[in-house]
Amino acid sequence: MTDITQQTAYDDNNIFAKMLNGDIPYHKVYEDDKTLAFMDIMPQAEGHVLVIPKQKAVDLADLEAKYAAAVLMTCKKVMQAQRQVFEREGITQMQLNGAQAGQTVFHYHVHLIPSSIHELGRHAVTQADSDKLADMAKQLATAIEN
Ligand code: AMP
Repeated sequence: MTDITQQTAYDDNNIFAKMLNGDIPYHKVYEDDKTLAFMDIMPQAEGHVLVIPKQKAVDLADLEAKYAAAVLMTCKKVMQAQRQVFEREGITQMQLNGAQAGQTVFHYHVHLIPSSIHELGRHAVTQADSDKLADMAKQLATAIEN
């Protein structure tokens, strides 16, 4: 019988771990001592941001309370900035647990997508223009600062 509590082990070489280690570039929106927010490189709508904890958590099952709280507070900052920058109220918050749910990067992360759930683009398929992502990251970072 399948053990439904079984999950993928944390891989120190996953792409988000590499970002946290400063090994690969990304478009930063916000950072504090417990979280990092950056532009999704294959957005499901314009302005798609990911928020990650600075904890080695594969999914929600691993997430410590203090990081859960910190992620949520960062999500709130990012969501408010998205509302301002993209001049829309509707921001979809999404988070996938396990490959069976469609999770593709096994470091816990929350998606914040300026889109209706009914209009989301395909998941992790089309790479966005890097200059546009850089520009959006800058606008969102400025909105968070002010
Ligand atoms: P999930 O399938 O929920 O694990 O989501 C992983 C997300 O990470 C997808 O939306 C991808 O587009 C995104 N992603 C993958 N590689 C990168 C990267 N190098 N920089 C930013 N986002 C990425």
